[in-house]
Amino acid sequence: MSLDDFVDLNPRHGVGNGHLRSTTPCSFDGGAVTKQASLNDFRCYDELAQCYTEDVDYAVHVMPRARSRVAVLAPHGGRIEGRTSEIARLIAGDDHCLYLFEGLRTTGDNFERLHLASHRFDEPRALDLISGCDTVVAVHGYAAPGPDVLLGGLNARLKEAVAQALAKIGFSCLIDGHPFPGRHPRNICNRGRSGEGVQLELSEGLRKAGDWAGLAGAIRTVLEDLNRRSAGWYR
Ligand SMILES: [Zn+2]
Repeated sequence: MSLDDFVDLNPRHGVGNGHLRSTTPCSFDGGAVTKQASLNDFRCYDELAQCYTEDVDYAVHVMPRARSRVAVLAPHGGRIEGRTSEIARLIAGDDHCLYLFEGLRTTGDNFERLHLASHRFDEPRALDLISGCDTVVAVHGYAAPGPDVLLGGLNARLKEAVAQALAKIGFSCLIDGHPFPGRHPRNICNRGRSGEGVQLELSEGLRKAGDWAGLAGAIRTVLEDLNRRSAGWYR
């Protein structure tokens, strides 16, 4: 992939209501949807799906894994937040459930058109997958200058364990005091069975040229530990 695919550089990503707001989210022509959506602030997946076409503008990939109670998600994958799909795949490996919502547009506007905020992300196949999982790890990308990984989500213990594992191999991490706390109960990372998950906001530098294998390996070790223990150990 070329760097042209790396088009998610919106520093406001993930911040509450700070997204671009639309005045006319879609226009309809005799019942047929025209692809003339303006910059979006969708309230839910159904609104997005009325404006854009699956397998043309975006794609959904779901890979259940029976043995894991963990789901790894890239809700802004593909060309929405560059490289988050690839990194989510590495973290999930063949062991954990995987869900990718990927922007496919070639017009450089995937973030503006297809970014459904995490606390509004209710794509049915994602909800179905995570309804069978205790814990969700959501992989995102942020564009402002900062550490390699900003950790959010309501599972404080898992967040701490991931941060320690990453710091041990040289990644810079921040748990608090950043713009992406991920504490909204409807944030997709907190909608697994435990109601507490983790979100990883990965820096632009890490996504472009970082040690993805090291990152994924460290997180996988923590998740394997989580799966071995009884449900709720990390709560
Ligand atoms: Zn995101």
